Amino acid sequence: MTNIILLGPPGAGKGTQARKLVDERNLVQLSTGDMLRDAKASGTEMGNKVADVMAKGQLVTDEIVIGLIEEKLNNSTADGFIFDGFPRTLAQADALGKLLARHGKKLDAVIEMRVDDEALVARITGRFTCGNCGEVYHDQTKPTKIDGVCDACGSTNMVRRADDNADSLRTRLMEYYKKTSPLIGYYYANGDLFSIDGLAEIGEVAGAVAAVLDQQA
Ligand code: AMP
Repeated sequence: MTNIILLGPPGAGKGTQARKLVDERNLVQLSTGDMLRDAKASGTEMGNKVADVMAKGQLVTDEIVIGLIEEKLNNSTADGFIFDGFPRTLAQADALGKLLARHGKKLDAVIEMRVDDEALVARITGRFTCGNCGEVYHDQTKPTKIDGVCDACGSTNMVRRADDNADSLRTRLMEYYKKTSPLIGYYYANGDLFSIDGLAEIGEVAGAVAAVLDQQA
């Protein structure tokens, strides 16, 4: 049973590493960003409410994202979870601790993926994903083998996120430094924090994540 948080600014590689862990360790990825994008795409009342906030790169309310996570935890029989993009505020971190305790679970590790801002801009502005299976690509560093066709599932439905532009990124980074980075101190104080180099090549980062998890097992 493993429950981990991947912590880091937008573009740090949280989603990419979470997907690898899903494949390799049989954990369930809980990405509040994906849940919010799904709500937006299916046009729910909440989805419509958050669309504008997300496009600008601001954080949606704690109440909404905590509600999303609570619903998943209540309805899942999975053994372990990877929290990707949640928590992003101290209030969310407190709420997660209480939710896990209520389900008889605990946090095993918080993995901080360290990257510098310059690298983030390049990563984010070249990023696209497969709209069918969610595989993440990059124009320069990880293009598809056949132009416009997903290597993993063969879909031609490639999507670029509305908030992956320089303007939103600036706001998303500010939100990260103001509201999310205090979580580094919070989890360090709890003894749960492990910091790894998020700028290394994908396989090397995965190795560093695996080393943390194996050490906890
Ligand atoms: P992400 O896919 O994690 O980069 O999230 C995309 C956007 O969804 C963010 O810029 C926020 O607008 C919103 N969002 C995702 N997760 C959270 C969260 N835990 N708290 C507040 N807003 C969130």
